[in-house]
Amino acid sequence: MPSCIICHELIDQNLNLHEECPNGHQIHKNCLKKWLDRSFHCPLCNNQYNEDIISKFKLYQKEIQKEKQKELELQTQQENIEKIQKIGEKFAFLKLIESIKHLINNKDYEKALDKLNNFEDKTKVIDMHTIMFFRGKINFLREKYDLAISYLFKLVKENFNYSEAFIYLGKSYKALGLDDQAEWAFKRAKK
Ligand SMILES: [Zn+2]
Ligand SMILES: [Zn+2]
Repeated sequence: MPSCIICHELIDQNLNLHEECPNGHQIHKNCLKKWLDRSFHCPLCNNQYNEDIISKFKLYQKEIQKEKQKELELQTQQENIEKIQKIGEKFAFLKLIESIKHLINNKDYEKALDKLNNFEDKTKVIDMHTIMFFRGKINFLREKYDLAISYLFKLVKENFNYSEAFIYLGKSYKALGLDDQAEWAFKRAKK
């Protein structure tokens, strides 16, 4: 059994998986496809392959090109879907914050906390610090100062630039009569 001049593995004549150069050097079709990327001449004797072999290869190249194009289009579509999802997530988050502010204005603190919990259960939170801030602020407003402090302290440990969090942290300390801590917090709230 002859072997392929590229990969040196045997070629089964019955499977029709091979081509040959004008001098009869046999080569797997798959090996030839890769080779023709570089040259249209037999790697062994340097004779040019027949036109029909070369044109078959060109057709094959076109198909590969088409497939790549399709893949690229699919990828672009997927990216657009992800972009739209992200915009949707942002919009849902802004809507949440608006309604939380509204509930706070109406002093409906329990409902505001419920809404924060619900949102976190169902929706991907894109800004956890804002959620933590509102948990702290709402608990300050409903006079649960210990809870407020635990949320806000955790927040400022993660984000030292969150001025509003320091302000409500200070207010909560002050409400508990912890003046030194309150002063520390107010100092760190940048104006
Ligand atoms: Zn081969
Ligand atoms: Zn040859």
